[in-house]
Amino acid sequence: MSQRVAIVGAGLTGALLATMLGRRGYDVAVYERRSDPRATGAERGRSINLAISTRGLTALRHVGLEERVLARGLLMKGRMIHAVDGEQEYQPYSADGEHGINSISRGELNAVLLDAAEELPNVTLRFDHRLTALDIDTREMTFAAPEGTVDVSADAIIGSDGAFSVVRRAMQSRDGFDYSQDYLSHSYKELTIPAVDGDFALDPGALHIWPRGASMMIALPNLDKSFTATLFWPRKGPASFEDIDTPEKARRYFDDNYPDASELMPNLEEDYRLHPIGSLLTVRCAPWNAGGVALIGDAAHAIVPFYGQGANAGFEDCIELVQQLELHAGNWEPALAAYASIRKPQGDAIADLALHNFIEMRDLVSTPSYQIVHRTEQLLNRALGDRYKTRYEMVSFSTTPYAEIEPTVRKQRTVVGVATAVGLAALAAVGLSARKR
Ligand SMILES: Cc1cc2nc3c(=O)[nH]c(=O)nc-3n(C[C@H](O)[C@H](O)[C@H](O)COP(=O)(O)OP(=O)(O)OC[C@H]3O[C@@H](n4cnc5c(N)ncnc54)[C@H](O)[C@@H]3O)c2cc1C
Repeated sequence: MSQRVAIVGAGLTGALLATMLGRRGYDVAVYERRSDPRATGAERGRSINLAISTRGLTALRHVGLEERVLARGLLMKGRMIHAVDGEQEYQPYSADGEHGINSISRGELNAVLLDAAEELPNVTLRFDHRLTALDIDTREMTFAAPEGTVDVSADAIIGSDGAFSVVRRAMQSRDGFDYSQDYLSHSYKELTIPAVDGDFALDPGALHIWPRGASMMIALPNLDKSFTATLFWPRKGPASFEDIDTPEKARRYFDDNYPDASELMPNLEEDYRLHPIGSLLTVRCAPWNAGGVALIGDAAHAIVPFYGQGANAGFEDCIELVQQLELHAGNWEPALAAYASIRKPQGDAIADLALHNFIEMRDLVSTPSYQIVHRTEQLLNRALGDRYKTRYEMVSFSTTPYAEIEPTVRKQRTVVGVATAVGLAALAAVGLSARKR
């Protein structure tokens, strides 16, 4: 049984996997193109915080880090919808109003995971090592490092090098590898809503949404009592990043479309000018494995962020990979093949769910029909318990395989539809017989 594992990419997924494999006694080397983020800090305006929910927490529990991460998180039990006139409407995420998702600093989460990996004597972290070439058959890698070119080989290689994975690029040149990359018509930019007199400017117990039909803004709380707001705007066309191309235009747009937020954003012009515009894309590929090489996290399934599940899904991948290694007694090739075939449908399913949720967040949440359906579904959940769960609850507050969620939603709706029809028919029959008498 081979023990030398190379993990390419020390982001959230790679760092967690290093800890999981290290704890099982594997000899793990992690190669990361950036410098150690614990020393250099976060990049300005790049996804400051993210929401971790049940799936991510379950994976963190496997390595004993759940409590440590939760202690640095802020629980958001619902969404707060902001209308243009400033009116706010709170929508709890779960029927009992108790379940929530956790706003966590990406930098801190990465640091916790890197610290946990580094504590293990059989795990080494090599920062400033950028993978430039990989031979899948021989598992030989070349890195660009400060000391020059570094050649390394390993018995198994896991590519956790993100949406633009170089490991995946090496797999793409192989016969039979399917790959697609779809850019969303919208991009994102992060801004800040600072604390007011040392306190949160908005309710920190909710994820705030300013739905505006074709686009939206959201905001998640941070421990320093600020909020990180993210604009999801079209790249081109009216009211796009291309159209609103100066800080002054941004302020005018905010005053007209997000007036309540505009008042709370004294640094809007500076943030708008300095913070980058990020792209959003969906990557689908198959197979995720080739011999002793496999993809994990965004490298295997980059998705749009509208369900807050990218990292959660990557963490779930780690659990499956490690479980398959155990089931296959440390035999990498069959373990990676089993891992890939189990997780690929899950990656596809959450990619579709996330795309669908964008329409829900930016548009539907503020419509009266959505609100009626939302309340009805929560009533059904209260009445029927586990026999009726909303899509959101299954995604965020369960570990139900993603691929089972849509069929379950359809089944539940059919059952409720049939039950309602039967009930109405019974009522009509009772009414009819009463009239005859
Ligand atoms: C705006 C936004 C909001 C999001 N919100 C959420 C959320 O609320 N909840 C959630 O679960 N997910 C969210 N996500 C998704 C989440 O950020 C990703 O799914 C997650 O970061 C994926 O982790 P990863 O480790 O697979 O990839 P990454 O985080 O991209 O890490 C990849 C690592 O590989 C390194 N690397 C890349 N190329 C090389 C190379 N050639 N050699 C060596 N190293 C390399 C990179 O430097 C990086 O450190 C969001 C994403 C965005 C853009």
